Amino acid sequence: MPTRILVIEDNPANMELMTYLLNAFGYELLTASDGETGLTMAIREQPDLIICDVHLPQLDGYGVIRVLKRQPALQEIPAIAVTALAMAGDRDKLLDAGFDGYISKPIEPETFIAEIAKFLPAGQAPRTPAPGSPLLLVVCNAESNRARLAPQLGSRETVWADSVRQAVELAQTHTFSLALVDLEGAPEDCLRDIENAKSDAAFAALPLIIFVPSGTPKGRTGAISGTARFLPRTVEPGVLADEIETCLHHENRRQDGDHTDR
Ligand code: MN
Repeated sequence: MPTRILVIEDNPANMELMTYLLNAFGYELLTASDGETGLTMAIREQPDLIICDVHLPQLDGYGVIRVLKRQPALQEIPAIAVTALAMAGDRDKLLDAGFDGYISKPIEPETFIAEIAKFLPAGQAPRTPAPGSPLLLVVCNAESNRARLAPQLGSRETVWADSVRQAVELAQTHTFSLALVDLEGAPEDCLRDIENAKSDAAFAALPLIIFVPSGTPKGRTGAISGTARFLPRTVEPGVLADEIETCLHHENRRQDGDHTDR
């Protein structure tokens, strides 16, 4: 079962950044944007870790931690405060209130995951794939497409991105074997986003399977060069599995230096 993390944060930008980082590292996310809702979710969902902003509407971080640490079922869940408070005294106050630790704002993407992982029991560390097992990147901007694709990927190690921009960032820090791109929107916009991403070396090196948006003009997909395959969204699960296998097989041979396989 994936590690479940509840994030209580009212600032949309901070929430987006934390959600993005935690998702990328394979954590399951629960989110709330005020203290009352966060508390209700904590009680109902019993997450493995709680990350809580201090300044929150309805009930602030101190209010949340006070209630949490009084509940026998919840007091063992590690809770981390996210705070812009700079003074040492303020931080002591957070620990005195019951928080198990704190993370300073602004959130640093480079260290955030390592910091939160310290508060998780061993075995719930960020999910890193077994060496040699292919890691897939799936770029998907619609919940419905995500729900359709996820079961088709089986137990493959997968990192999800919400946008092409996010995918490019992930490609710079992860070694993917293949990217699947399924974008909802005007075909011209989707294909242009992919073309633009190709100017990034890490992303350009990735074999792509692209689900062609309906209404794509004939011949338009030809503008995306390289090792891209195009599939309709309605593709049979078995066909998609075969396509993924074929791409991974080609990619393995390419990485092994076998350039005769064309
Ligand atoms: Mn806040």
